[in-house]
Amino acid sequence: MSFFGEFTGDKELAKSYNYGDHWRNKIGYKVLKGNGNFNHKFGGNNWDVPACKNCNAPYHIIMSLDLRDPKLESIMGICDKELPLISCLNCSSIWGEQFFKINFEEKKVEFIQDTDTQHWIQDDELKIGSPLYEVNMQLVSLNENENENPVNEELYYELTNNFGKDYFIRLLGAPLYLQDPIDRECPCCHKEMKYIATVGSDFGNIIDNTNFDLGEMWLYFMFCNECSILKVESEGD
Ligand SMILES: [Zn+2]
Ligand SMILES: [Zn+2]
Repeated sequence: MSFFGEFTGDKELAKSYNYGDHWRNKIGYKVLKGNGNFNHKFGGNNWDVPACKNCNAPYHIIMSLDLRDPKLESIMGICDKELPLISCLNCSSIWGEQFFKINFEEKKVEFIQDTDTQHWIQDDELKIGSPLYEVNMQLVSLNENENENPVNEELYYELTNNFGKDYFIRLLGAPLYLQDPIDRECPCCHKEMKYIATVGSDFGNIIDNTNFDLGEMWLYFMFCNECSILKVESEGD
């Protein structure tokens, strides 16, 4: 296990990664409902996704990012591709780590592995429907306001307490770690994966028609450009 990534202070302490000066000028975005110049989407089913081997339902496409947007250049350069952020939302697959291979040419996601050993499945009446209702989204800079990156302990708690009220997806920049930093090592090439997004629950009814409530559990997405591997890991409170 190797954390990689930035920290301030003692490398052995989780809080050294969660907040501090290392996040001060990081450029990141909050994802809000609306039409921008690019085709960023919440939900939808425009990718061929496999069925979860535990609950048998298709994986949820949480977001599809339009990589023509210069704001996302650091992921794969500016290119005519989309990057899907997927996870199962209805079973214990979500509690550990999930790995997928992205086949950009065929717009297909292949399951590689997960670390689920519990094999729990949500009750039918409480399941989050799939596919998720599709909504156009736009990326709004987190840097216009000094208070949107967790540069100190006070701001960290303010941001984590409010996450999900006005927005529930952060892209690039500073992740909001609920507990410890996430292991960023690519299981294939063992290099550092690119941190892509933190996803929480939509407590503010930001997306109408959709109950996107993961409770006090947040998802972290990472991507290895060399291996086209997407990693999803969750943290709970
Ligand atoms: Zn599942
Ligand atoms: Zn890799």
